[in-house]
Amino acid sequence: MSTAPHNAIAPVGPAPDMLVLEKTPLERYVAPEKPSLIGLSRAALADALGATGVSPAQRKMRVQQLWHWIYLRGAENFDQMTSVSKELRAILAQHFTLARPEVVAEQVSVDGTRKWLLRLPSEHAGERPHEVECVYIPEADRGTLCLSSQVGCTLNCSFCHTGTQRLVRNLTPGEIVGQIMVARDRLGDWPGAERARGPGLPTQGDRLISNIVMMGMGEPLYNFEAVRDAINIAADGDGLSISKRRITLSTSGVVPMIARAGEEIGSMLAVSLHAVRDNLRNELVPLNRKYPIAELLEACRNYPGLSNARRITFEYVMLKDVNDSTADARALVRLLKGIPAKINLIPFNPWPGTRYECSDWEQIETFSEIVFNAGYASPVRTPRGRDILAACGQLKSATEKLSARERLALRAMAMTE
Ligand code: SAH
Ligand code: SF4
Repeated sequence: MSTAPHNAIAPVGPAPDMLVLEKTPLERYVAPEKPSLIGLSRAALADALGATGVSPAQRKMRVQQLWHWIYLRGAENFDQMTSVSKELRAILAQHFTLARPEVVAEQVSVDGTRKWLLRLPSEHAGERPHEVECVYIPEADRGTLCLSSQVGCTLNCSFCHTGTQRLVRNLTPGEIVGQIMVARDRLGDWPGAERARGPGLPTQGDRLISNIVMMGMGEPLYNFEAVRDAINIAADGDGLSISKRRITLSTSGVVPMIARAGEEIGSMLAVSLHAVRDNLRNELVPLNRKYPIAELLEACRNYPGLSNARRITFEYVMLKDVNDSTADARALVRLLKGIPAKINLIPFNPWPGTRYECSDWEQIETFSEIVFNAGYASPVRTPRGRDILAACGQLKSATEKLSARERLALRAMAMTE
């Protein structure tokens, strides 16, 4: 199977004022000798079958069968595919696997949140393995899976710990879909499998994973094709069948890709706004120097299919004395006028070495009230899985890159309500 292209992000040189907006991606994906079929589109699956000698006339039917076994039944090996002939199963097993990313750690929070640390192949033998995390957040009426799109992130949002990581590479579609497969394996969320038990799991609906958010590590619109292909597989009605209304892609504001995301992905959109003035947003989300707030909001206005039932979520991280004044709240409401919007206030999750603090609870409430009175539902995202450090912006980096002392400090902070 061909090697995925080198990370397609053009390295951006120092801006005129010498502020470096983005890091250059360092690593690329090298496919294993026996590739996994997970993450291939139907067309790519047909090609893979063709390469093993399946005749063109048979391919469509075989693709349908494979799709069913892989994505509807969760098959982990070809022997399980009883409707496929023994000969073909043997041929497939010779050339391919159904491997998911390797799970190196699983943590279960007292509130039911689960976090998996996944190891992905690295480019050079012997180098530090690439790792990402995937988090499952259960609620009574839904189960949300938070997926990563990159190892690290080339952007450097000043409040985000992922941005401090040096290593960056794009995930392949298989590695993105693979996170869903791993989560469903671990939760027993396949037909006939033994379901996970424990506190906090959804009690309604027949599925443990009903929603997906692309809010883990990485900027999904900087890995556009892979994210698009993965979401299209996740939404496929003959397979994983997670409606695009229940899939949310979160972006820091890659303006030129937003229209394309609407056309080719069509999921729900979340935008990490975090500030109402360009000078502050330049600091918090340096990509704002390239795509300022007015351009970003214009792209949002043009996002296809917006209505009161289908709104853009604006994420706003609450940073004490930085962006949390009542004047900011009023400006936020004015700024979003005319855009079908939801506002999601996120308590800042501190990490060792950060210069920011989370806003005081009373201030978050005051802010939220102004937003609410302006007609927006403004849920404050309750921190979940604090005991396992499952918070946004702390994925993986929290468990891997810190010294033991820092880890303890972080854990202590995360446990403080
Ligand atoms: N790169 C994308 C998606 C991943 S980040 C984006 O930036 O939108 C998902 C969300 O977590 C974003 O809104 C991001 O701003 C927020 N986030 C990052 N670090 C955080 C932190 N330390 N505390 C709270 N939210 C954080
Ligand atoms: Fe990257 Fe998003 Fe973190 Fe910014 S907030 S550094 S875009 S992951």
